Amino acid sequence: MTLAVIAGVGVDTRHWIGGRRVDSADGSTFEDHCPADGRLLARVARGGRAEAHAAVAAAREAFPGWAATAPAERARLLRAIADGVDKRLEELAVVETSDNGALIRSHRRGVIPRVAHNFRFFADYLTEQLAHPDFDTRGHTNHVSWDPAGVCALISPWNAPLMLATWKVAPALAAGNTVVLKPSEWSPLTASLLADIAAAAGLPPGVLNVLQGIGEEAGAELVAHPDVRRISFTGSVPTAKLVAGAAAANLTPVSLELGGKSPFLVFADADLDLAVANAVEQYDNAGQVCLSGTRIYVEESIRDEFLARFLERARALRQGDPLDEATDIGPSIHPEHLARVDGFVRRAEAAGARVLLGGGPNEELGGLYYRPTLFTDVDPHSELGTEEVFGPVLVLHTFTDEDEVVAAANDSRFGLAAMLFTGDRERARRVAGRLVAATVWTNCFFVRDLRAPFGGARQSGIGREGGTWSFDFYCEVKNTVTAP
Ligand code: NAD
Repeated sequence: MTLAVIAGVGVDTRHWIGGRRVDSADGSTFEDHCPADGRLLARVARGGRAEAHAAVAAAREAFPGWAATAPAERARLLRAIADGVDKRLEELAVVETSDNGALIRSHRRGVIPRVAHNFRFFADYLTEQLAHPDFDTRGHTNHVSWDPAGVCALISPWNAPLMLATWKVAPALAAGNTVVLKPSEWSPLTASLLADIAAAAGLPPGVLNVLQGIGEEAGAELVAHPDVRRISFTGSVPTAKLVAGAAAANLTPVSLELGGKSPFLVFADADLDLAVANAVEQYDNAGQVCLSGTRIYVEESIRDEFLARFLERARALRQGDPLDEATDIGPSIHPEHLARVDGFVRRAEAAGARVLLGGGPNEELGGLYYRPTLFTDVDPHSELGTEEVFGPVLVLHTFTDEDEVVAAANDSRFGLAAMLFTGDRERARRVAGRLVAATVWTNCFFVRDLRAPFGGARQSGIGREGGTWSFDFYCEVKNTVTAP
């Protein structure tokens, strides 16, 4: 099966290498299922060493031509891809929701428009923002230029497949690199549609290649390839260690965007409705959001009021078919993942933690639906207190003073994000300054500006993406010194 038809949208499930659709040499495939109802969506080409090497070779061959293409022309093509995304927004939204179970309403109004924005943003960056004055050293000029690095290996996860992939593809292409994108085997379909859109926009063959396959096979072969000049990876900490090891063997620069266990602080002087609304949002995408504030710290004096309002709102969440605009929470991505989430919950209960909400699969819906869950009485150093669950499972702690909650929030091997709610602006500034996190949201959540750095402190990542941080990573930044 090389063509899957999902809600009327045809998706070619072969690799896209050198501007051609190709099967794996041995004809092998893997199955891709719909999280909402378990049906088989597609059999997708299962790449290995031969296909990873073919994709890198195609990208290498296309590199000199693309690197020499004038920035204005590269920007024009990126904008044409963005237009193509806009044109196919509904198709992309339906296929993405069918493939990864995230809400159609988020895909329609937030995520897929952001995919187009990723391309437009880096097209603008390339043509408008990339300028640096020469330095003068005793009459010599130091001219800084951004040379493309070469072939980039881009590895993306399943929780926001096309958005996170294009957050890498767009800056890498803008900088003049050629890329091999390896999407997650749990959500491989929209990467294939991106290849169609890029080809229709006129992107030359070999500039964007899509390698399908299993992480330990296609992904591992790709990141180990000595001709790869940059590796950008978004995924889990254990996989990142393997990727970093492969990168170390070739001394390939690597960018890592990883998991988290973000703290969510609510002070007694906070706007409680705002804090509760944002706390319930941490269940978005069935908790499969790297940034999710899964450790909620509420000041003791407002604990009961916060909890009552939280439970009321959380109980009103509608769980069900992600293709339904009215749904608030969809399914987990995969049976293996659901079992992993449930394992955390079962072990926490056995260790004495108390369930205040949910605590298991949604039996009425069956399948991969897990009830939004809230725990209290969780030992902060226990498994549930410290590990990323990546499901709809939150933990409620209390605190009595600022020093105590800052210490507790920072007592983590992660440092992706932190959220804090307070009515005191001075406290907001002070506490934000003390929290160890690459992004701190004060009295808000999820507001992003693509010019700003995004990444993770500690084991939540290495490097930053966004604006100049992405661009610099994908370039060999060069200084040319010229005598008077
Ligand atoms: P994962 O680590 O299992 O897989 C990520 C990608 O790596 C997939 O494409 C997979 O096929 C590939 N892969 C697996 N083994 C590989 C190997 N040995 N070599 C090369 N590639 C390999 O992660 P996941 O389950 O897909 O995603 C969930 C994780 O991603 C969570 O930890 C989440 O917090 C994190 N995440 C982080 C961000 C961020 O921006 N910081 C964003 C989204 C998700």
